[in-house]
Amino acid sequence: MIRIKEGYCRLEHRYLFQEVARRVAAFHEASPETDIIRMGIGDVTLPIAPAIIRAMHEAVDDLSVQERFHGYGPEHGYGWLREAVVQGDYASRGITVDPEEVFISDGAKSDLGNILDLFSEENTVGIIDPVYPVYVDTNVIDGRRIKFIPCTEDDGFTGEIPDEKLDIVYLCYPNNPTGAVISRAKLEGWVDYALRNGSLILYDSAYEAFIQDPDIPHSIYEIEGARQCAMEFRSFSKTAGFTGIRCGYTVIPKELRGRNRNGDDVSFNALWERRQGCKFNGASYVSQRGAYAVYSPDGREQTRESIRYYLDNAAVIREGLKRAGLHSSGGENAPYVWARTPGGMDDWEFFDVLLKKAGIVITPGSGFGKAGRGYFRLTSFSDKARTIEAMDRLYNCINEL
Ligand code: PLP
Repeated sequence: MIRIKEGYCRLEHRYLFQEVARRVAAFHEASPETDIIRMGIGDVTLPIAPAIIRAMHEAVDDLSVQERFHGYGPEHGYGWLREAVVQGDYASRGITVDPEEVFISDGAKSDLGNILDLFSEENTVGIIDPVYPVYVDTNVIDGRRIKFIPCTEDDGFTGEIPDEKLDIVYLCYPNNPTGAVISRAKLEGWVDYALRNGSLILYDSAYEAFIQDPDIPHSIYEIEGARQCAMEFRSFSKTAGFTGIRCGYTVIPKELRGRNRNGDDVSFNALWERRQGCKFNGASYVSQRGAYAVYSPDGREQTRESIRYYLDNAAVIREGLKRAGLHSSGGENAPYVWARTPGGMDDWEFFDVLLKKAGIVITPGSGFGKAGRGYFRLTSFSDKARTIEAMDRLYNCINEL
């Protein structure tokens, strides 16, 4: 018999959203007449912006003629997209990034999981809690020791910087699930921690495009010293509706280094280039052409409109929760609103109550970590009318509890 990788046996039985889907499917079977409003899953719903669709159509047409046909592309992404990322997301904010430090991929989830190929299992890992569950699961698979950094309302869901040395620290801002953002001062604190301890920060800014507050950093590289201690993960999924198309990128500065058993310093940029060359064949030409169009003037304008639409929904959610007497945060610089369950009810119990009595799907907070207990997440990715209806139903449901 083939021996399996033990880490998979250590994973909790189900990934959060599979459990949510299972409960929703069971309810739908038992009560097919109920009109269910999904306020749980973090998938976008608006169609992709016309400028991006046009670019992808043209890319498909390219493939139909000999002179413009594209087969395998460069593993790390086409030069024109790497350059557009540098100009559009970094140089425009006064941040220096070299195109060779930008690795285009099929999305942030893959990169966040795959990057662990570079790190020894002996490294200790710090993960803010609550957070996107992928960081935990991928480290459990590898068997690294995880130290959770609980985030509370008191610290604005940005956690207390630990005293102990952790080798790898995951930060995610704007945060999924709390919708919290991190201040420049707090992020400076984390960079200082990493530089003092020789730690590496994995900075997930998949929701960067939702930041409205001019004082909030968009990139960890806005902080001095971050090039020596941080990798940054970004995605076109929520910025431009690419959850189905798939495209994202990871920035690995050339000065970022790890150490091998012989005590030699090794460049993570070179290692990742090697790893991707070995295990990845690049994101598709069509999706990269679509991503490239995100940086065109029309692409910029149109994607900004979609984000505005979602943030308006988030405002409806925040207002609805307030009307229902529930305490909430987030939703101002992020598509997620995070709220306390009524009367301290268990969050999975509240999930079942809302599903059965109001036909609304939420995401229970404890699915994002122990510190999420007693909270739930609502997303702004539904359509406006449905969001308004969901908040009316929630109000009535809570009044009847
Ligand atoms: N990072 C965070 C914090 C997310 O919430 C998500 C998706 O929900 C991802 C990364 C995954 O992004 P992608 O669609 O690019 O794989």
